[in-house]
Amino acid sequence: MKTETSENKLCPSSTAHEGAVLLGVVQGDQTVALLNAGLLADASFIAKVEEEGHPEKRFRFADKCVKSGCKQWTGTKCGVIKELAEYNPHLDGMDHSIPECIIRHRCRWFSQEGNKACMICPYVITDNLADI
Ligand code: SF4
Repeated sequence: MKTETSENKLCPSSTAHEGAVLLGVVQGDQTVALLNAGLLADASFIAKVEEEGHPEKRFRFADKCVKSGCKQWTGTKCGVIKELAEYNPHLDGMDHSIPECIIRHRCRWFSQEGNKACMICPYVITDNLADI
């Protein structure tokens, strides 16, 4: 049986590309509604959202965490959720409900920061992360 290891985690803020999992949709209030079914983005979906422009401002995608192949990797962790967790110390120890999520068992952010990552996650828009 395959076990979940650090090597097969998923990045919950991946780019829009064929084969990525469509994880969530950005709402009018700029929060992300996570989907309750894992939809794989196929070529026609990607072509359509790219034609409409800025897919990572409108959707969240998940795909394999490539660790050192990503500029956000610190060498040991995902720097995105590490920094967002550090910016939000008030969430430490909070007993706050977290959204249902189809990738939690493999999510890099959850494996790194636990429930705190899931409290932050609905406020993350991938296309706004460039400066982090
Ligand atoms: S941080 Fe939490 S809610 Fe967001 S994708 Fe990972 S497991 Fe799901």
